[in-house]
Amino acid sequence: MELKKDIALFGPSGSDDDFAKEGHTATIEMPKWIRDRGLDLFEYSFGRGVRISKDTAEAIAVEADKNGVEISVHAPYFINFASVEQEKADNSIRYLTESLQALKWFGGRRCVFHPGSEGKQPRNEAFARTKYMVERAVEVIRSPELDDLIVCPETMGKLAQIGTVDEVVELCKIAPNVYPCVDFGHVNCVMGGALKTADDFQRIIDKFFDGLGEEKTKNMHVHFSKIMYTAKGEVKHLTFEDTVYGPEFEPLAEVIVKNNLTPHVLSESAGTQAKDSKYMQTKYMELLGLR
Ligand SMILES: [Zn+2]
Repeated sequence: MELKKDIALFGPSGSDDDFAKEGHTATIEMPKWIRDRGLDLFEYSFGRGVRISKDTAEAIAVEADKNGVEISVHAPYFINFASVEQEKADNSIRYLTESLQALKWFGGRRCVFHPGSEGKQPRNEAFARTKYMVERAVEVIRSPELDDLIVCPETMGKLAQIGTVDEVVELCKIAPNVYPCVDFGHVNCVMGGALKTADDFQRIIDKFFDGLGEEKTKNMHVHFSKIMYTAKGEVKHLTFEDTVYGPEFEPLAEVIVKNNLTPHVLSESAGTQAKDSKYMQTKYMELLGLR
């Protein structure tokens, strides 16, 4: 598979409603469906657990390769590296390892995970625990088979979750194969809707440039969708039809082009992931053409 490395890439996370409406049922049909729309990426979510056989994953990998679509995976949502229960924290390492094994079968390189939740602990303790456990996880996954894979801690949308921009920067300093997953919808939720202008997005990007340098910032993983929020943060994912909560993609597109970023951008819209990633790709390409 030849991947375009010098431009931003786009695609859906999970199955768009149109995929089923057009009569498709199996993930193996997804890579061609994505390629037919001119998109580049697909994120396979193991939200409720890593349940895929080697045969199925490898068959999907053949289709992905044939159609030039790169697959990333999302590790289970119940990963919690901040847990005070050691068994839960240890299991989190296992969920990550299982996700990476499946990622390897898919022929992909990137695995996104949610770092954890503070629970009843003070924030600094919860973060220290998370960092210690992610360090251990990185040790465990350092094996000849999984060595070329990248793990991406995600910026989270609820205030009680570990994963502010600063925390994700810190986690990404742990090892060369830890890259940021910046979910700008989530960042907008915890900042109460503060991501509006290109300068607002630039300030976030600058934190990654300052903390992690060029390589990890330019090639960051991005989740982008509009998300409803309250004072506690994220409530639910919306589509690009939303005009109330945001954020808008256009200012981020400006920042991506201006800084020569080449992120992998996944849409997590509610049912319109393919349509909305196509929208983002189109806006980005327009700006790139104008440059
Ligand atoms: Zn996520």
